[in-house]
Amino acid sequence: MKCRICGGVISEIEHLTDVKSDVNRYYRSPIKHKKINADYGYCTKCMLGQIDYLLDDKFYDGYAMLQDDIDKDGRDRGITARYEKYYREMLGRLASITDHERLLDIGCGSGTLLTYGKDYYDTVKGVEPSVDACASGRSRGVDIVNGYFDENWSDGEYSVITATQVLEHLEDPVKTLRLIARNLKGGGTLYADVPNGGRIHANGRYYDVYLEHINYWSLNALVAAVTYAGLRVIEAKEIHDGNHICIIAIKDGNHKGYNGDRIIQTDRLNTAIRKYNAFSIWGCGVKGSVFVRGISNHKLKYLFDSDIRLEGLYVDDFEIPISYPDAAKINENDLIVITATEHRDDIEKDLRNRYDYKGDILAIDDTQYNCPLLKGM
Ligand SMILES: [Zn+2]
Repeated sequence: MKCRICGGVISEIEHLTDVKSDVNRYYRSPIKHKKINADYGYCTKCMLGQIDYLLDDKFYDGYAMLQDDIDKDGRDRGITARYEKYYREMLGRLASITDHERLLDIGCGSGTLLTYGKDYYDTVKGVEPSVDACASGRSRGVDIVNGYFDENWSDGEYSVITATQVLEHLEDPVKTLRLIARNLKGGGTLYADVPNGGRIHANGRYYDVYLEHINYWSLNALVAAVTYAGLRVIEAKEIHDGNHICIIAIKDGNHKGYNGDRIIQTDRLNTAIRKYNAFSIWGCGVKGSVFVRGISNHKLKYLFDSDIRLEGLYVDDFEIPISYPDAAKINENDLIVITATEHRDDIEKDLRNRYDYKGDILAIDDTQYNCPLLKGM
């Protein structure tokens, strides 16, 4: 048995003789399925538990998870509301990391997440193999493609791709994650969540093992798979009282290396500076000191730093002394460039409120992204 993520040989194998399938279906009369034999392997390197048994292709055609939690009188028992709150906050957060243009939900079921997504994204789309779930989603006015998300999927690039409770079903999850990466725009974000397979090992939760789930994800395994797919993980944690785990990862844009990035970013800044009459830099820490190299400084008025001890001192390779900020000096400028990016919000607030500054503000990170002040460069 080989690990689905790293391809390594799995030595910890348990032979299971009574694994249940079809646990997400309900029947009008008693029914007895035969129990299935399967090997359960655990990769000690990736910390992924995996079942060596594949369901046939048609299995998901009529698949439906029960999604709403309504009592006899039609009242929401609160679980749906709690999930809605969680997913709305998550979608809002993702839209703030990338942009809010296009959302794709893989394995969207009847499109519940997409109905929330409409409030955060310009366009939302789902892909779902179950015919019934598709029909139910479409009747709610959600755009759903009936089928699988595979190598034939070509629909332009997405801002965000979500896959909730999907990766535990997949025979080759890294391949799917690579396809996700290919269909994200540079700077685009993946969100995925799965049942917390790490708990099976920690707590002996044998009742969490059944054939529809062939992968039992720990946080370590999820981070590894997403990393192998070429995405950069920015968050991975337990959610829903530890029953599930989630991951957020970003597809980085084209990185040109130290020299390439330095040339591109200082060029962008120098081009931007041309339309201003006077500009100053705020922040003379290490980032500021590195960044000021290469800036054309004929219009540079001041190097500001709010650390009073630095007043009158010089940074390496620069002939303008450091000034402690005051309103008069600040308002000589029509552009202030913030190099102390970790304090950006505080500095912007100070500039606007304390010093009543009305000019433009740019942070050095903006030279990497599509900042409105740098449009057209
Ligand atoms: Zn492995």
